[in-house]
Amino acid sequence: MRKKLLLGNWKMNKTPREAKEFALASKEMVDYAIAHDIDVGVAPTYVCLQTVKENADPRLIVSAQNVNEHDHGAYTGEISIPMLQELGISWVILGHSERREYNGETSEACNAKIHALLAARMVPVYCCGESLETFEAGKTKAWVEEQIRVGLAGIAPEDAASVVIAYEPIWAIGTGKSATKEIAEDTIAFIRGILRDMFGDVADAMRILYGGSVKPGNIAEYMSEPDIDGALVGGASLALDSYRGLIEGLVK
Ligand code: PEP
Repeated sequence: MRKKLLLGNWKMNKTPREAKEFALASKEMVDYAIAHDIDVGVAPTYVCLQTVKENADPRLIVSAQNVNEHDHGAYTGEISIPMLQELGISWVILGHSERREYNGETSEACNAKIHALLAARMVPVYCCGESLETFEAGKTKAWVEEQIRVGLAGIAPEDAASVVIAYEPIWAIGTGKSATKEIAEDTIAFIRGILRDMFGDVADAMRILYGGSVKPGNIAEYMSEPDIDGALVGGASLALDSYRGLIEGLVK
């Protein structure tokens, strides 16, 4: 039985003061989620990680939005795994479509980062998803398969169990145009099939999230599908009320 997971991707939003306010006010929500056997977390910017970690319920997952695979060195503007570890951060989102588009992050680069994270016993949240053009051309599955096979290449099945996958069709991110639950389930079940081919039965323990304009009003629909284990949520994870609504939708 896979545990449900809600992860808020704050992208480039919230100052440290705003992030602290959210962390302090989120304690009751985290309690409610844990009581219903749901994992909940947020991914603030680097400059907010420490304040969220220090001020939130310790059971709130606090994730980075990226990491460098090298421990230290001449990589201006980068953040390393030991730096995150010192703050108690053990989750990292990788391969988000915005980072793929604006920062040239490739599946090969994600693969190196995933190996480094797994060696450090950390949890990668690896994102995949197709553009509108690819979707309309009926090439979603081939696209996503390539991202999964390259991003997770060379990972041992026993390590793969802790990897979280987020399927996020790019045409649904921040557009208000969410994929139907049938489209999401179809692609996510397909991804689980690839994972089964790569890692055997471990695939049944791996959590796969849907992301793309998930809101308090539609999250429950996705959760009714057998292969969807939770959601990676951008816009609707920023305000406390909305975040609480997402948890309530997951509980349904
Ligand atoms: C995201 O950034 O991962 C995302 C899914 O954004 P939104 O929920 O705003 O579509």
